[in-house]
Amino acid sequence: MKEEQIRSTAPETDPYIARLDEFAGEIVSRKKHQFGYPAAQKSRLVDFYKWFIGSGLNLSMADNAGDPFAQHEGILNSLDFEREVIETFGPLYGFDLSNLWGIVTFSGTDGNNHGIYFGARYLENSTGSRPVMYVSDAAHYSGRRLADLQNLELKLIPSDVHGCMIPEELDKAIRPERPALVVYAMGTTFKGGVDDQEALNRVLAKYPDMPVYRHIDAALFGGYLPYTEYRDVLNRKIQPYDSIAISGHKYFGMDDPAGIFLTTKEVLDRQKSFEVSYLNANMPMVNCTRSAISPLKFWWILKHTSRAEFEKMTGEMLNNARWLKERMDEMEYPAWLEPMSNTVYFKRPPQAVFEKYGLAPDYDERLGGDLAHIVVMQHVTRERLRTFLDDLTSACAR
Ligand SMILES: *Cc1c(COP(=O)(O)O)cnc(C)c1O
Repeated sequence: MKEEQIRSTAPETDPYIARLDEFAGEIVSRKKHQFGYPAAQKSRLVDFYKWFIGSGLNLSMADNAGDPFAQHEGILNSLDFEREVIETFGPLYGFDLSNLWGIVTFSGTDGNNHGIYFGARYLENSTGSRPVMYVSDAAHYSGRRLADLQNLELKLIPSDVHGCMIPEELDKAIRPERPALVVYAMGTTFKGGVDDQEALNRVLAKYPDMPVYRHIDAALFGGYLPYTEYRDVLNRKIQPYDSIAISGHKYFGMDDPAGIFLTTKEVLDRQKSFEVSYLNANMPMVNCTRSAISPLKFWWILKHTSRAEFEKMTGEMLNNARWLKERMDEMEYPAWLEPMSNTVYFKRPPQAVFEKYGLAPDYDERLGGDLAHIVVMQHVTRERLRTFLDDLTSACAR
């Protein structure tokens, strides 16, 4: 633990500070080797905190209860900033500003909760019939959890060896007499597979009388894909979908769980909203209070990062992922990398390497059993990857 990394401003007489410093020191010293989970350990909020501490906001309780797109009263909120964040993101995913609604969420899961809830309400209110939900078995578990929570009939569709939903399996599972709520995984959690929307949409098109709602879970990849040559896969003008959830603490470098949820006005208009007199507001969203700070942090990051900078950091991430895969190929170490992905997955390494780098485990019989992966985020630099490869080489030689 490096001394200079800990600069506590609390009084030295506070007996609890030592324990907190020890805890913080542990995180600070280990974060650079955290390769297994998709958090960007490179803060984009250093100057935000300088502003925040001096602003007086740090001594206030502000919260966002209400619809950022509705007329809102009261000032102890950041709803205007929340709306600006949504309006900055919307066009990146092909939403027209005239037909855009959304919120800053608590997380990717919270965004999926809204997508699944809004989708179910939309379909039920348009058709009078409960939808069946379809999601692949490689998608993030939150889809399954939320189907359970929302009491939706779920069809878990098998995925191929790349982590993508198999179109023929979707076809087999379809119940054409009921509306379909389809969750596409754009960047599955372990393998970084991207569901092939075109192929899956062709399957859905075989049932022209079946109403369909498409929600995209793009928690990690949704952050960076708009800054790549693959941007069209998340452009709803090219690949039509109804809502999308993206995490804020993954690609964007927020330091607290957060995300965004985007949808259209048509979807919003088919929700059961509640007029809440004491809030003087119409409440279509699931949560009452949301963070007032997350929208400010998001806003800060968006205002202080140019498109060129996002493109550059994304290019570096994807190049580093390809570089890692090539080096592992040279070592003849079994490793895979899907197109569009920053996640290299490989045969599970010896335990010491697994632990040092905070790797995430998985299992796939088709690929020889135990696996691990590295999510090449902004802090996973080539230099650190070189050290990882050296560690891997010596651990395997033992
Ligand atoms: C991380 C992730 C989630 C969950 O997001 P949280 O912000 O952790 O709730 C959902 N889906 C995918 C594809 C993810 O990568």
